[in-house]
Amino acid sequence: MRIQVPKKIVPLDSILPDEPLLMMGAGPVPIPARVAAANGIVINHLGDTMAQIIEQVKIMSGYVFQTNSGHILGVAGPGSAAMEMAIANLVVPGSKVVSVINGFFSSRLAEMSERMQANVERLHIVDGQSATVQQVEESIKQHRPQVLTIVQGETSNTTCNTDLAEIAAVAKRYDCLIVVDAVCTLSTMPLDMDEWGIDAVITGGQKGLSCIPGVSLVGFSERAWDLILARKDQLRHWCLDAKLADQFWYKKSYHYTAPVSGILAIHEALRLICNETLSVRFERHLRCSQALQAGIEAMGLKLYVEPASRLNSVVGITMPTSVDSKALLKHMSNRHRVEISGSFGPNIVRIGQMGEQCRAHNLFRTLHALGSSFNSLGQKLNLPGGVAALETTLDKYEFEPAEGLKLA
Ligand SMILES: *Cc1c(COP(=O)(O)O)cnc(C)c1O
Repeated sequence: MRIQVPKKIVPLDSILPDEPLLMMGAGPVPIPARVAAANGIVINHLGDTMAQIIEQVKIMSGYVFQTNSGHILGVAGPGSAAMEMAIANLVVPGSKVVSVINGFFSSRLAEMSERMQANVERLHIVDGQSATVQQVEESIKQHRPQVLTIVQGETSNTTCNTDLAEIAAVAKRYDCLIVVDAVCTLSTMPLDMDEWGIDAVITGGQKGLSCIPGVSLVGFSERAWDLILARKDQLRHWCLDAKLADQFWYKKSYHYTAPVSGILAIHEALRLICNETLSVRFERHLRCSQALQAGIEAMGLKLYVEPASRLNSVVGITMPTSVDSKALLKHMSNRHRVEISGSFGPNIVRIGQMGEQCRAHNLFRTLHALGSSFNSLGQKLNLPGGVAALETTLDKYEFEPAEGLKLA
């Protein structure tokens, strides 16, 4: 043994802050206590207990994805692994793919398709705008792809593809499979897998589902599953091979050792969604996001995306030129213990509105931290005006609750 025991390692306690930062960025997001507790349990990955849990995860996923016929599979990996699982199994080498590009994550789907040796046509959409049905139809007509890839919400620049249902219908009309990345949006806004005819729904743990990072779910339609079963070529990915994953998810046998703790955590995250019901959860997300947006604007800041294309799950704020975004994030984090996100592209900062982030007390704390930090850094904002707008917008919903709205 030539390598010595490392001397400079300190215990986690002395690295982690006394009070954890409030995670209000673009993910990971805070997790409910039940999810955290489930994540601390390890059980046999092939026993009867696990089998019962897997059954329930599939049933609850059917509700959350809104599918009766879909084939639900889990994957030990980040949202990107779920993206790669969908792409690797549905994109046949040499086939044609059209990728709708709204930003960073939709580009990743195109890149993954290229790695599968597809001929990829990128349909570039103007930054901050939703793809239109007409744009997509023209591209499909021209290129006749076997697969269309698209994001529901582009987390990187806070744009939403609002016409997703119609775009899926167009894809279907041209006999083209549609793969939808719903990592940041699933369970925060409507997505009807069966009704809209979506062939693969991709989701990750740490965003819309308010679960831990590293365990993800993919749903394949009947049409997609038939294609997967009919494929004669051997997939280049072993871990991501849906037919092998099917062994564990539908046949109670071994593929790889499943991330049992993470699956228990997802079970609890899904159960909380089922308890809340989707309609109440969508309402909560909309109410909180709109209240936050109203507060930000009333303070004197500008939102990056116009209302018609704006994603509610992640709110993008245009940075005034007088303040550096890194300095702002650092100030919010150090002084207020609130974490929000910078950006990969445009000069914006982003506040998440996914799962547990959408709670009134988190909104007040975050908006105060944002406004107060700007003021400290020399950009004077109307902080009281912002907080008042947040409160009145929240109250407006509370006094006129939509049908089924329960305030937990
Ligand atoms: C975060 C995100 C991903 C990637 O998820 P990872 O867990 O970071 O791999 C993919 N798509 C969208 C829309 C996302 O928001």
